[in-house]
Amino acid sequence: MNKKTKIIATISDLRCDVEFIQSLYDAGMNAVRINTAHVTTASASVVVDNVRKVSEQIAIMIDTKGPEIRITGLSKECSSGIVVAAGDLVNVMGTASDIASTADVVYLNDPTIYNSVPVGACLLIDDGEMELKVVDKADNKLVCEVQNGGVIKSRKSVNIPGVSIELPSVTDKDRVFIEWAIEKKIDFIAHSFVRTRADVLEVKEIINKYNSPIKIISKIENREGVDNIDEILLETYGVMVARGDLGVEIPAEQIPVTQRHIVNKCIESKSPVIIATQMLHSMINNPRPTRAEISDIANAIYQKADAIMLSGETANGDYPVEAVTVMTKVAMEIERDALKNAPNSDMYMVRINNEITAQLARSAVRASVNLPVKAIVIDTLSGRTARYLSAFRGQKPVYAVCYRSSVMRQLSISFGIHAIYQEPAAKHNDFLSSILFYLEKKEWLSKEDMIIVLGGSFGASKGASFLEIGTVLNLENKSINS
Ligand code: PEP
Repeated sequence: MNKKTKIIATISDLRCDVEFIQSLYDAGMNAVRINTAHVTTASASVVVDNVRKVSEQIAIMIDTKGPEIRITGLSKECSSGIVVAAGDLVNVMGTASDIASTADVVYLNDPTIYNSVPVGACLLIDDGEMELKVVDKADNKLVCEVQNGGVIKSRKSVNIPGVSIELPSVTDKDRVFIEWAIEKKIDFIAHSFVRTRADVLEVKEIINKYNSPIKIISKIENREGVDNIDEILLETYGVMVARGDLGVEIPAEQIPVTQRHIVNKCIESKSPVIIATQMLHSMINNPRPTRAEISDIANAIYQKADAIMLSGETANGDYPVEAVTVMTKVAMEIERDALKNAPNSDMYMVRINNEITAQLARSAVRASVNLPVKAIVIDTLSGRTARYLSAFRGQKPVYAVCYRSSVMRQLSISFGIHAIYQEPAAKHNDFLSSILFYLEKKEWLSKEDMIIVLGGSFGASKGASFLEIGTVLNLENKSINS
């Protein structure tokens, strides 16, 4: 499939049979996300095992919950919910233990809220479905006026826009899932509510303890995360623009500008970026998307995101395969339009930072625009050369030979990269003859095609050092004779 934008589909343990995952893969899905809010490690293991039965190319990402404020469980007397009307006063308290919420006091899992939340702040329950405004503070309680009536339900999320949350970045449950993910050799941890570089480092510390190759995707979903994107990018592998919570934490009209800002920052620093949430929300119940949803996907692709993500659409929606198919079709249509203007005007955004690999990647993509080149062929030990090429968002496919299956899968969220696992060759440069043979067999390349090879002369771990351009035939002959 000649699609360059990658698709991530959220899969639940309630629907994860092999045939289902196979049909999403056939429709264009590149990676699977498992939301830890809704699974146990045992049920998530079933998803992982089934994904692996479909293809070893599919990356798996677990999504931790991070420092999320939630209402505690409700007491028996109000187990079906606390009914409130606009104008009612509700007492809200923070707690470190799991005290049940009642009609008298609604407890939140952050013991510091009395000090950190000022009068005038808004508590948005369940992605903003209900709004409580803090009108007074007394006896460790926030006295809140209900702005719109409804039912306060058990364990719903609470966003408090503009207020810095004191909760630790990694909860006990997150730690269990991170350790499980490391043991299961999962590819990514998408960590929620990353606010600072320190939040990323907290996850990294666990990963480093186990010497794991798992990579961190920082979910940006509040003002602090947006404001600190530069320092977060210094530590994270990639970023997710998590528009569900972000759309509650900042004014919704700021989402498009913020999304564009974060995508540009990620391109500059050569880090993969994912746009998530409500891309095809109406397809949870309808077989056809709205025009606005198609335009939202198109916007993400014109902005040059690496990957787009589906949540409820594939986790529990009625039309999961159709949703992936729509994304694939829109991606291919928009890529044709977005990539036809040569040379790529964004090329100078990407930072070179005195790195040979970055400079060679820019030259390779530029050459692939100026010459009738069919593809760029590379080998990549850590995935860095491939990610650098991806950052320039070239028009031609990049075939990346990987010597580690984890690197191959991790490249499945990078724009335009087609990663292929190969056993390391006895002589480093021998990778070329075997990959060219493979690509010809697949009929993705033929002997007369012009290609660019970005390679390293100083050993696999030393990075790229040369760029060579020629026909497949000439490069094959050279490789055999050298
Ligand atoms: C989001 O908020 O957009 C998101 C992807 O996170 P979650 O699905 O965990 O709410």
